[in-house]
Amino acid sequence: LHKAMERGEVTAEDSPGERYLPQEASVEDLKQALTLDQIHLAYQPKVRCRTGTLVGFEALARWQHPQLGFIPPDVFIPLAETHGLIDRLTLQVIEKALDWLAEISSEATVRRVGQHVLQDILLSLNISARSLGNVALFDAILQRCRERDIAPQRIVLELTETGAMQDATTSLATLTRLRLQGFQLSIDDFGTGYSSMVQLVRLPFTEIKIDKRFVMTANDSEESRAVIRSVVELGRSLGLNTTAEGVEDGETLNYLNDLQCDLAQGYLIARPLPPDEVPDWFIIRES
Ligand code: C2E
Ligand code: CA
Ligand code: CA
Ligand code: CA
Repeated sequence: LHKAMERGEVTAEDSPGERYLPQEASVEDLKQALTLDQIHLAYQPKVRCRTGTLVGFEALARWQHPQLGFIPPDVFIPLAETHGLIDRLTLQVIEKALDWLAEISSEATVRRVGQHVLQDILLSLNISARSLGNVALFDAILQRCRERDIAPQRIVLELTETGAMQDATTSLATLTRLRLQGFQLSIDDFGTGYSSMVQLVRLPFTEIKIDKRFVMTANDSEESRAVIRSVVELGRSLGLNTTAEGVEDGETLNYLNDLQCDLAQGYLIARPLPPDEVPDWFIIRES
């Protein structure tokens, strides 16, 4: 199981609690990992439901501890959040991901892979809602984009619904500023938080992501399908992109396509990939 997790094929959520015991990673371990640059990234493709066209990738943090083994983000992100390390982690992730984006959309890669679509692909980054109060972090993100000549329009910042709504006034100020700078803004895990449809209209989001817990159960649960339908409908009426995450089979993809859901992400399309596997994935897929 751990080997599969290392390869990014399995997430903590896949493993029953019995078999996967959360690793005893301490704050000190995490601090050291940040210092030693041990947090890596995997990239999961995001495609258009109707055509299968590649639209972009979501960067997902991976921590392979030399002794403790694979520690899932669901464990170390909360650890970073509660111990004041999240902004440092976010900045490291962002620098790595932007370097990767610059590389994957470079002329050299485009020539090798033979696909111009790579020049315009989007990069989705997860931002802890706790960071919304930190203006310096967002200035740094803009700065890092400029240094690499990456347009903020190509960056999608994903925030979780509950967090984004916690302090609506601060959130609104930060999010509006980011939108004006050109960044795209996404509500992650939509449907899992408290009802905040009213807030959504006031906040300048460009995308809603339907949480995988609904998408993964769409085939068997009328309740899940009802949530998906209403989120897609809401997205349409607000003029937002709707993305379904956790798409694992063709039946679900067809269902989403019938509803005119815009984008899909999930194991059916690809697992989160280590950076060096992305060009090959692309070549195999196109051939
Ligand atoms: P998320 O942002 O909702 O990311 C989607 C999660 O679903 C990822 O888990 C991904 O590997 C998994 N996934 C994607 N497609 C499928 C599928 O078809 N089936 C199943 N079963 N799972 C699928 P992962 O990588 O373990 O990340 C868990 C969470 O950790 C993320 O949820 C996100 O909230 C957080 N996270 C990851 N990286 C970062 C980061 O750099 N910063 C922050 N703040 N949070 C992060
Ligand atoms: Ca996400
Ligand atoms: Ca999500
Ligand atoms: Ca999640």
